[in-house]
This record gives sequence, C-alpha cells and structure tokens, in this order.
Amino acid sequence: MYDHRRLGRELDLFDTDPLIGAGLPYWLPDGATVRHTLEEYIRGAERRAGYRHVYSPVLGKRELYEISGHWSHYSDDMFPPMDLGGEQVVLRPSLCPHHAVIYRSRPHSYRELPLRMAELGGMYRSELSGVLGGLTRVRAIRLNDAHIFCTLDQVADEVRAALEMIRRAYGVLGIEASRHRLSLPGPGGKYVAAPEKWSRATALLRDVLDRSGLPYEAVEGEAAFYGPKIDIQVTDAAGRESTLSTVQVDFHQPERFDLHYIGADGARHRPVMIHRSIIGSVERAVAHLIEQHGGAFPAWLAPTQVVVLPITEAEWPGAEEVARRCADLGLRVEVAGPERGSLGARIREARLVPYQAVLGAREAAAEHVALRLRDGRRLDARPAHDVLARIAALVAAHASELWEEKAPEV
Ligand SMILES: [Zn+2]
Repeated sequence: MYDHRRLGRELDLFDTDPLIGAGLPYWLPDGATVRHTLEEYIRGAERRAGYRHVYSPVLGKRELYEISGHWSHYSDDMFPPMDLGGEQVVLRPSLCPHHAVIYRSRPHSYRELPLRMAELGGMYRSELSGVLGGLTRVRAIRLNDAHIFCTLDQVADEVRAALEMIRRAYGVLGIEASRHRLSLPGPGGKYVAAPEKWSRATALLRDVLDRSGLPYEAVEGEAAFYGPKIDIQVTDAAGRESTLSTVQVDFHQPERFDLHYIGADGARHRPVMIHRSIIGSVERAVAHLIEQHGGAFPAWLAPTQVVVLPITEAEWPGAEEVARRCADLGLRVEVAGPERGSLGARIREARLVPYQAVLGAREAAAEHVALRLRDGRRLDARPAHDVLARIAALVAAHASELWEEKAPEV
C-alpha cells in the first residue's frame, strides 16, 4: 500500500518546510515535471474540446464574494480578508466569480454559446493545521477549472461531453472511478434558497446520468452551495473515498452577476453556468496518481522516460548520442554510466523509469539498443532510431501500454 507523502519525499517529487508553512507543499523538479505534463495534457484536451483559456488573479475584493454568495455560504473555508487602502481583498476560494465577471465584461450573442472558459488557476482554503498533510489537504490549490456559459437547451450535451472528457482522462492516467455520485443538498442552511432552480438543475443532471448508463448514487448533503453536481469519486489504497472530478449545473451565479446573452430574437437572455473539472485540484490528482502507480507513472507522465545504460566506459559516446536523439524527440532522458555501479544496480535504481536502453560494445557499433521495459520485458537489440521513434509515438499518444509492436495512432 503506497502513501503519497512517503513516496513523494523518497522520489523527490514534493516536500514541505515548516518555515513555508503547513499545507503549503513545494514541488521538486521531478514532481514539477509530472505536474507540468499533466497540466499540458489537460490544456490540450480542453483546446480540442473547444475551450479557451484565461488567466485571472488569485485575489479579489470582498464584494465579489458577497455577490457570488461565497461570503455568506462559504466563509468558514476562506482566509480572513486583508485590509488594503480602505478596501478588503480576499484570497479566492474558487475561480467562478472571476470567470463570471470575465464573461460579463464583453457582450455575447447566442451564436457564441456554448462559451467554454478554462483556467488552471490558484485558489485558497483555510484548512486547519491539524488536518493538513501531503498533497491531499493543502491551503494553496491549483484547480483545473472551467465554466461553460450556455443556453438551457445546451446543458445536457455539455454535461455529457464533460463526462466523456473525464472518462478519457482517467483512461490515459490509469485512474479508475469508484463511483459516480449525484450530489444533492441536504438538511441545513448552507445552500442558496431557490427550490425551483434546484429541482430543474437536478433533473438535468439526473437525465444525463440515466441516459449515460453509468451507475450512480444520489447522496444528500454533498451539493455545492449554489447547485447540485455530479461527482466522480475515487478510492485510495487505504479505502478512503474522495472527489476528483465534478460537473455542476448552476442557475444561481448567472443571476447574481446578471449575466446575459442576446438571443436570436434580439432580446436579453440569461445563460446557464456549468462548472466542470476533469482532474479537480492538481495536488489531489498527483497524490492519487502517486499512490495508484506506486511512483511508476504512465510513460508519458514519468519524470524520466528513458535511461541510457552504457555497459562500460567505452560506450559513453554512443550513450550520449542515444540521449541526444531522445532529447530531439522531446523525451526526458538520463544517462547512467558505470561510475554509478554495476549494470544490475543501475537497472534497479532506474526501476521506475519506463524504458531502459542498454548499450554494449556490439549495440554501440551497430547503433542499436537493447531495450528493457520497466515491467521486466526485454526486447532484442534493434536500430536505435526505430526504438526511440516508437517510444516517442507511444508517449505522444498517451499510451497506457509500455510497448506495442504496431505504432499507435497519434
Ligand atoms: Zn465554478
């Protein structure tokens, strides 16, 4: 059973320091590589699905959150406001209000809808120090967030498309959803009061889930304060369940921010706002990936993808040439020479690296490599450029298989 906190430190992925503070991890180069690669995958998937990316600041005036409703419904989780020249500014607890304001800043026609706005943005949560640890309970969060502004007629298709993006991402990441949850409001006062909007949003989500054929459970007390949501739950090695991905339908914030678009009839109409996240917070997603794979990330995500192992000093030039070719193909590569121990010891040290290219005198002379895969498979020596091109194609395709004789489609 893997603990991401222990592995994160052992594998030099991330760490914390009391001087920076509890719940404020920093990312070491290998962890930053995994995170960057994951973020780029998400941005690429979003671009292909018609999202446009924005940047917005992590601070906002207190009034912004009073309008959104966070101030009255969510302030327990927010950092105290900072006084600044007669105003109060707040570290944001979510990206939604900024995106609503960005939408509002320009006029919109029905022809622009669905308008899909995405950002991998920072947000903050004032978790108590007692519950902080690793990457799962943090005070500074990088959220994979997006808001879709659309007409009521478009909601079902957009929710369905978001669920499909999530399914595909889980496929390439090797994540398995433990269940889909339809999260509804429960008894108590933390929800905005608008019974008709709640029931309409709930019916929309329920309908998409029913038609998708996905098994799901409706659970009370897990909704966002402004609307119901579909949560995709994952379970960690210790059996603890958490929410990674979410799709929410919101009639509340468009009204609070007085959002509108001009319809085909020339009149003003209110859009619906869909909140959706494919992997949730980057911190929680990476924590889950570390535990899921025990540090042996899918090849496209691995901090080092290829290690070149010259058997003796004589193969150094050949090894450097292989490494240069890897780098030209965009692969993350390292050379581990005989000064780092016997071949067996170096292979053990590189046990999490998906591809280990062994280079003896015969291979070096013929510009071949003998490839070992992380899972123990060994391939016969073959031309280096063939082997590396195949690896690059598998990585570009986000393949979950380490090796296929047939080249994957990119
Ligand atoms: Zn949102």
